Amino acid sequence: MLTITGATQIVVDESTERHGDLVFRDGVVVESHDVSAEIHDGGEVLDASGCVVTPGLVNAHHHLFQSAFRTMPGTRGVPMAQWLPTMAAAYAEAGINAEVAAAAALVGSAEGLLSGVTTVADHHLAWPSGADTVAIAQAVAGSVRSLGGRLVFVRGTARDDPQEAAASADAIVSALLPGTRDGISPDGMLQLAVGPAGVHSDSRETFELLAEVAARHGLRRRTQANEQVDVVIALEKYGRRPLDLLEDWGWLAPDVTVAHLCAVTDDEIARLAAAGVTATHAPGCDLPMGWGIAPVMALRAAGIAVGLGTSGGGSNDGGHLFADARLAMQIAPLVGPPLAARDAIEMATAGSAAGLGRPELGHLRVGAAADACVWDVSGVADAGVADPVAGLLWASPGRRPRHVIVGGRVVVRDYQLVDGDEREITERLHSLVGR
Ligand SMILES: [Zn+2]
Repeated sequence: MLTITGATQIVVDESTERHGDLVFRDGVVVESHDVSAEIHDGGEVLDASGCVVTPGLVNAHHHLFQSAFRTMPGTRGVPMAQWLPTMAAAYAEAGINAEVAAAAALVGSAEGLLSGVTTVADHHLAWPSGADTVAIAQAVAGSVRSLGGRLVFVRGTARDDPQEAAASADAIVSALLPGTRDGISPDGMLQLAVGPAGVHSDSRETFELLAEVAARHGLRRRTQANEQVDVVIALEKYGRRPLDLLEDWGWLAPDVTVAHLCAVTDDEIARLAAAGVTATHAPGCDLPMGWGIAPVMALRAAGIAVGLGTSGGGSNDGGHLFADARLAMQIAPLVGPPLAARDAIEMATAGSAAGLGRPELGHLRVGAAADACVWDVSGVADAGVADPVAGLLWASPGRRPRHVIVGGRVVVRDYQLVDGDEREITERLHSLVGR
């Protein structure tokens, strides 16, 4: 049992807040009538006075491998046609293998946990033909698990051979989650999904074959669309818009989450909503890449569940989800109504979880997974703040949580990883990529 006591405010979900105590037992949130008796029972107690408690954050769109390749020369302020080969050359130099994937994932998940991300969806796109893809997937899963985080590993594709990609996705499921019916491990720590990078890079055959793998094992499907470059390439290649193609190819459906969605029309928003598709906003990638701003408020107003993702280190050099939630608030008024802090927090928690088909994540109602962040708001950066929940995002950009809990276990305590050493994690990556 773990008890959090004396919180200034607990964000239970988008419409419920209270102060006081929160009790976790057997990995879930439980009713806490008489907390003093529960504490007497034993178990750990975290003092949250001067702190706001939120659900653990869910990063709905990341590329953990890119954590090893940030601020690369030739990747900033350049068109996608230049960005891709520059990144590919850097990958090739380091080697796309289980060892580098493990080290990069360790960095990315450590960075995430230290900034409150308890679940990360890793859309892995780098698969050299003939590589041991099961070993790469196992390496990433092992890294995230070793630090105590939850992982959604997305077997992505980017110009992969369709048959090879589908066989690899199947093999990854068989090796990591044998016999699964919903793509989620019994302890909820690992989920598998499939995801072509987009119609700009992958063929109809890839989308259809990965959909078959998903249907066979009950996996969620994830892709990217309407980064402006995607729209341009779809028009050049097919004379169509990306969402028209996704619809034809059977990829506008309730089990599909689409990231980016910068250049969407009102008609397309209505079609996404009607199809039950969920969305992921990734402004920390979309802005530096020059892709534009997704109309988040219009997507939400249409009833679409919108999550939040950082995307990878190759475009967004940070993996700090709350920093990007703040960015989302700052830019929303440029394309529509403002985005409130509580709505941005909802996107970074329940909104992201909805797209993953994980109703137990992203909130702290009784029965929810015991994933939470304890944010200390007693310092000068929060002094003068009238609303400590709104202040989580508006004040103190880049803030880190004091404590992070996943499945009822403390994985970050007093701003430090419990199960990993930051210096070792950093040195391990540097020894492999030569920085
Ligand atoms: Zn992305």
